[in-house]
Amino acid sequence: MTDTLPRVPAASPSAPAPAAVPMEPPTPPSPAPAPTAAPSPATTSTPAASPAAVRSAPPSPAHGGFAELDLLGAAGLLDQHERARLADVHHLAQTLLRRQSVDPWNREEFAPDLLAVLADAGLGALQLEGTSALFRGLVHAEVARADLSMSTVLGVHNELVVGVVDALGSPEQRRALLPRLAAMRSLGAFALTEPEHGSDVARGLTTTARRDGTDWVLDGAKRWIGLATVAEFAIVWARDVADGTVRAFVVGTDLPGFAAVPIRNKIGLRIMQNADVTLDGVRVPESSRLPGAVGFGAVNTVLRHSRAWVGWQAVGLQLAALEVARSYVRERQQFGRPLAGFQLVQQSLARMAGNAASSLALMVQVARLQDAGTLEMAHAAMVKATCTAQARETVALGRNLLGGNGMTTDYEMAKLFGDAEAMYTYEGTQEINQLIVGRALTGVSAFV
Ligand SMILES: Cc1cc2nc3c(=O)[nH]c(=O)nc-3n(C[C@H](O)[C@H](O)[C@H](O)COP(=O)(O)OP(=O)(O)OC[C@H]3O[C@@H](n4cnc5c(N)ncnc54)[C@H](O)[C@@H]3O)c2cc1C
Repeated sequence: MTDTLPRVPAASPSAPAPAAVPMEPPTPPSPAPAPTAAPSPATTSTPAASPAAVRSAPPSPAHGGFAELDLLGAAGLLDQHERARLADVHHLAQTLLRRQSVDPWNREEFAPDLLAVLADAGLGALQLEGTSALFRGLVHAEVARADLSMSTVLGVHNELVVGVVDALGSPEQRRALLPRLAAMRSLGAFALTEPEHGSDVARGLTTTARRDGTDWVLDGAKRWIGLATVAEFAIVWARDVADGTVRAFVVGTDLPGFAAVPIRNKIGLRIMQNADVTLDGVRVPESSRLPGAVGFGAVNTVLRHSRAWVGWQAVGLQLAALEVARSYVRERQQFGRPLAGFQLVQQSLARMAGNAASSLALMVQVARLQDAGTLEMAHAAMVKATCTAQARETVALGRNLLGGNGMTTDYEMAKLFGDAEAMYTYEGTQEINQLIVGRALTGVSAFV
């Protein structure tokens, strides 16, 4: 997205500043691969083209912004300050997140050290700083380009936790929670989905909130709740038994009756910890209720922006896939020449680039609508459905370009492939977002 930045992760935090980093990786030249050799896996070095392989690639393999995968010059729309900050985020993400995320992803473990990278970069306060929506979106894309799990941690934190407390919390709640959240010293979870109600949670939500003197008592179950096993609190959406109104509560994860059990064996988003949560008579004071969260409309206000955020994740994931695939095909030789020299391979790359650019263009316009305050749920649903579908096709094309090596996370692409599936499902499935668009187009609700 920026035109002066490295496209390949460097090895250490002390890597040179973005503008000084060459396109080729800072590894010593290696002998040209044998005709059937595969590029080195990501666990030992990144699957980027070695200098020798670049020499063997066709002449003038990349041009202008395309060389840097700056497909549409979107960062050029930012002011100078935001552009420089974005360049820093890109550099951090590529040097401190991308390669480092592969092992915890394989082990399905949360990675506090990767969280510290985000915190140290000041990304916990993205919602509170008054930056442009385009800047925030491009930051999310850059983090997703390095690792989708950590991008989801960042997105849930900013969009669904900081954003909710800021928009729907009382002044006291904002004062108590936001400074710690902004520094990422505290994490929250967003607990809406239930075991029996996912797509239909708006009407089906069964977790209950019962007023008892000055307290509320919460009972029910939640499923898929990101960060619930590591967060300090969860924002729990529950139905008031008195009048059926949906309300939200800040619930400490250490309270009696609150339990979170990790969901294991996911095929994607494996660093992000999702959990089954049970609430068994959890007692919270009235001061834990978010006063602005009244009715499901409040949920929708939040989801409008978090759905748009997923569109940015789809942009980042596609740029990552394009980057990995391009590096691989310039190095991998078959039939005595680099794969990059075959027309059908270039066709796949061009389609991946077209998909990524098309998602990016949609998101740039969404950012304009957000800044103008005119983003509607139908816009957000449309871009979430469209960009994640494009990302799914892009990573499938990329996985195919790596042949057998596309099946192992050693070459990164398999990780992107799995992560795309998670992204396709959360924040409303493809079908549910399409139904939202269909309703906006026709005026007819076709959910049931
Ligand atoms: C990795 C991951 C992270 C998540 N993180 C969170 C989180 O942090 N907090 C949270 O609250 N939730 C979270 N979720 C939950 C997520 O939002 C739900 O999984 C999603 O809304 C789908 O609900 P479901 O899984 O119950 O699927 P279901 O609703 O059972 O849907 C199953 C299938 O049926 C289709 N379907 C359903 N209704 C219709 C219809 N009317 N017409 C056509 N097709 C239909 C769906 O599109 C889907 O293909 C997460 C999910 C995942 C996978």
